[in-house]
Amino acid sequence: MRCDIHFMKLRPFFLSVFLAGVLGCEPSTLSGPQKGSPAHLEAILTAIDDRALASGNPDGDWITYGQTYREQRYSPLAKINRSNLDELGLAWHLELGDRRGIQATPLAIDGILFFTATWSVVYAVDARTGSILWSFDPQVDRSKAADFCCGVVNRGLAAYRGALFLGTLDGRLISIDGATGRVNWEQETVPQDSNYSITGAPRVVKGNVVIGNAGGEYQGVRGYVTAYDAASGKEQWRFYTVPGNPELGFESEALALAAETWTGSWWEQGGGGTVWDAIVYDPELNLIYLGVGNGTHWNHQLRSPDGGDNLFLSSIVALDADTGAYRWHFQTTPGDSWDYTATQHIVLADLTIDGDLRKVLLQAPKNGFFYVLDRETGEFLSGEKYTYVSWAHGLDASGRPVERQGARYTDGRAHWVTPSSYGAHSWQPMSYSARTGLVYIPATRMAAPFANTVIQGPEAVNAFGTGHEVMASFAFDRATEMVFDTHPDAPLPGSATGELIAYDPREQRRVWTIPQVSQYNGGVVSTAGGLVLQGDAEGYLRFFDDETGEELHALDVRSGVIAPPITYLVDGEQYITLLVGWGGGAGQTMKHVDKLYPGSVYTFKLGGTEAMPPREDVIERPLTSEAFTGMDVEVGHGYNLYMRNCIACHGAVGSGGGAVPDLARSSKTTYDNLEQIVVEGLLAPLGMPKHDHLTSEDIAALRHYFLFIADSLRSGMPVMEMEGRITQMQQQALKAQRQKL
Ligand code: CA
Repeated sequence: MRCDIHFMKLRPFFLSVFLAGVLGCEPSTLSGPQKGSPAHLEAILTAIDDRALASGNPDGDWITYGQTYREQRYSPLAKINRSNLDELGLAWHLELGDRRGIQATPLAIDGILFFTATWSVVYAVDARTGSILWSFDPQVDRSKAADFCCGVVNRGLAAYRGALFLGTLDGRLISIDGATGRVNWEQETVPQDSNYSITGAPRVVKGNVVIGNAGGEYQGVRGYVTAYDAASGKEQWRFYTVPGNPELGFESEALALAAETWTGSWWEQGGGGTVWDAIVYDPELNLIYLGVGNGTHWNHQLRSPDGGDNLFLSSIVALDADTGAYRWHFQTTPGDSWDYTATQHIVLADLTIDGDLRKVLLQAPKNGFFYVLDRETGEFLSGEKYTYVSWAHGLDASGRPVERQGARYTDGRAHWVTPSSYGAHSWQPMSYSARTGLVYIPATRMAAPFANTVIQGPEAVNAFGTGHEVMASFAFDRATEMVFDTHPDAPLPGSATGELIAYDPREQRRVWTIPQVSQYNGGVVSTAGGLVLQGDAEGYLRFFDDETGEELHALDVRSGVIAPPITYLVDGEQYITLLVGWGGGAGQTMKHVDKLYPGSVYTFKLGGTEAMPPREDVIERPLTSEAFTGMDVEVGHGYNLYMRNCIACHGAVGSGGGAVPDLARSSKTTYDNLEQIVVEGLLAPLGMPKHDHLTSEDIAALRHYFLFIADSLRSGMPVMEMEGRITQMQQQALKAQRQKL
């Protein structure tokens, strides 16, 4: 007789041996509560304690956001491997209903999946069958969608001592009873009626839940992370990433020093520096590493007019894990002016460098350089471009970038700079394979025009839907002279493609690269089976050879993928689960499949026999046939309004749309009710916020702009001609506006 493995997880070893003795079985055959029952959920989550979190998942589970505290996203499982991918089949498929983006990494604990989907909704699902055990909706106000820059997404949960921890889009941290899905406690981690949000996964560190926030694009946002006691929800410590108003005194010596790197009155805008993704705990060194975001404004000249590096923006900061006190920092982009956050995934590893085994951390932030740092001291060990980069020539011996002339766009012209503000790599997790020693980076190739264009007046309040004139660094005035990047490797203006890069962190070089049609694809996992797995914008989960990059297999999951897959064991069998839901920052505005399907969970295993849900025939929504009757100046005004208010979520008019609709393809009813929808918030429950600063005249101008685009596309007007006409019309509108003022 053998005891069930869960039983061993639930109790201290001596107790299981004692009970095994009493019951007369070997410790591995006692059976625990029925899988999926509340008692089972309670038991498996209670077993997630500090020791389990530090153990590195010996049972083939996936118990924390990055798989283990090292966040390598490398699975030691090899039952699914290069030799048997043909046997891989669908175990089950679950539709979640909502059609917005899903970025989450599920937790998989003893055959139960715990994950988040759109609007911070949480699910507990039986990994063997796909049946929902419970779900929890924290009731985020759906009308607030435009208050968050990059979709109504959430990246995941933390589990600890019976509870699950959720950061909600509206900034709450909630402890959920893992057995029932009921709330244990809830804390507002951000000021109410503010522009903060949360999309990242909490991490549990020695009994504390550590959570950051997002919103560095918005007025009044000053980044920080907070630790709460997991049991009570009581605040333990808070670390601010940028200094506040000096007159109020600084919270720490570190912030007083940081303030010396700022100029002007930065605190009036908030400063930015949100920690919206990477928060990594290092049990060996008792440190927490934070990836810190961009400043408010993006534009360095507006944010800190007399220069300065602006610590701790775009930095990796190490804190004492017990107290949250500053230990060291490394700034990737001093005086950032391009939204080059260093919030990206941080991997902990040990690498042999010059003959010495070094404790390192690895990061491929937005700025396009791959960093290897000593995680004990923050010392820069090496850094090179992992993709095409135009803003800097390279890094000096200390890791400081050597900038290229013009990259700071201070001369009144619009400079095309690579990477764009989407970054060469964003939140999509990379993977470090213990098998190959390579890092697999889901990367982006895209340039953007940056110019020092200030948007003023009431429009500034809602510039690009981002709260204020932070986007002043985007060249949206079409008359601004363009400075193009003529380097043969530079991405062409307007092109946006992706790459899956296998990168050697020791030698700082690419080993192989897979070009991709979209700049926006899923996160990555690698396995001991010699595989790299990634979902992509075209709606496939692809399997690559981890050494050569050869594509070995692909599974059709219909909609574009942004989330990373996970792999884990259930009763000794290896499973792969992938959440599919197109959306998020770039996914709102475009797509690479004909049709987007509701958010779904796909689970695969060897010998899985469920039929894959088919792609449906799609008739693309036609361009509207509403007649265009506007005057040039009205279209131009509509364009200016669109660029300031709508484009961040809706993308380019006429392009077909992403998770958010293309307004050249709306119905007559939509155009007839445009004012009610845009100004009064008729569709607020669906996530279309009201813009009550717009007038009836503005709404009419927007409508003219949509109908002009639809009319031009229908008539087959060449793109260059259309662009030229819009430029003329925009100039007329700006001229008319200036005359009015
Ligand atoms: Ca940003």
